[in-house]
Amino acid sequence: MKVADRVERTPPSGIRKFFELAEAADDVISLGVGEPDFSAPWAARAAAIDALERGQTSYTANRGRADLREGIAEHVTQYDLDYDPESEIIVTAGASEAVDLSMRALVDPGDTVAVPQPSYISYAPTAKFAGAEVLPVPTRAENGFKLTDDALAAAGAADADALIYCYPNNPTGAVMDEADLRPVANFAREHDLTVFADEIYAALTYGGDHDSIATLPGMGERTVVIGGFSKAFAMTGLRLGYALAPPEAVEAMNRVHQYTMLSAPTTAQFAGLEAIRSCDDAVEEMREAYDRRRRYVLSRFREMGLDCFEAEGAFYVFPECPGDDEQFAENLLTEEGVAVVPGSVFGEGGEGHLRVSYATGMDDLREATARIERFLD
Ligand code: PMP
Repeated sequence: MKVADRVERTPPSGIRKFFELAEAADDVISLGVGEPDFSAPWAARAAAIDALERGQTSYTANRGRADLREGIAEHVTQYDLDYDPESEIIVTAGASEAVDLSMRALVDPGDTVAVPQPSYISYAPTAKFAGAEVLPVPTRAENGFKLTDDALAAAGAADADALIYCYPNNPTGAVMDEADLRPVANFAREHDLTVFADEIYAALTYGGDHDSIATLPGMGERTVVIGGFSKAFAMTGLRLGYALAPPEAVEAMNRVHQYTMLSAPTTAQFAGLEAIRSCDDAVEEMREAYDRRRRYVLSRFREMGLDCFEAEGAFYVFPECPGDDEQFAENLLTEEGVAVVPGSVFGEGGEGHLRVSYATGMDDLREATARIERFLD
């Protein structure tokens, strides 16, 4: 059957390719996946079960249940974000749908979307599916993989229409605080860029609280904040996320959403509401566990002599590796049974690095780092 050109031109995800290799091998420890090894907190699961028992199996309002939107509005006040649940919040099927909706609703074919790299793998393909051009903006280990106004200017982003990024960052674990965000916000205002700020890892920071670019002067009106339940609440399979944006942007996103998705999964909406109402302690326990693992993995890589930038968010570290990262990752997998993702799949600046996820139990992290050490020897 004929396949659409724009899809034919999009290569399959480099991460998937690695998982397929890992699945085919025996006794593999995977530090490759970008999802929590925890289950969702029990109270959230219980709310989902209860909703099913009560026969809550219908569609919800397109924008999501009103109580959930109110809950999200309250939840994001911890980041000083102030959004009206009626007109400025839309509930989506994962942050993934929010990324897709942002592109399809707010970017025109032929527009240019600046994508800092190394980057989460979905942004460039989603922008291209919306007919946009992608402008890579390299970030560098020397700058702690932070996005700077200089990098934006050097890449030519002054002529772009939009910018999409995530901090805390996947794949590097970098975070940007308010002082780091200010020059980026100034650049966006000066050059009239729409900003899509993927803040799905906002709750997973280890050096201080998360700052959102949308709180900076003049930024709320040009920013879509993307959030979700997959990471902090360990709810990847429930598929629940949201976008916060000015009313006209939410209205536009809802127009696409109402024809393509109708509403986010109902069971997940009940789970999500309970998660934000009562699961702060469970989230904090998971965050502390990630932090212990993060310190352990960083110190082990440094002991091995691998340069490892101090990741302060999400659940990834991004050490340098000797030689070609794809070859390194492939040999590590076949010789020692440890799956990591080569940095080059995340775009420019990722080469010569590995993305290592520490959303894995301590025993596996100990064994995997011992194997990596043996492999390096
Ligand atoms: N954004 C980033 C930066 C991610 O790492 C991920 C998950 N890997 C997503 C979005 C997608 O999350 P969701 O499960 O909510 O669609």
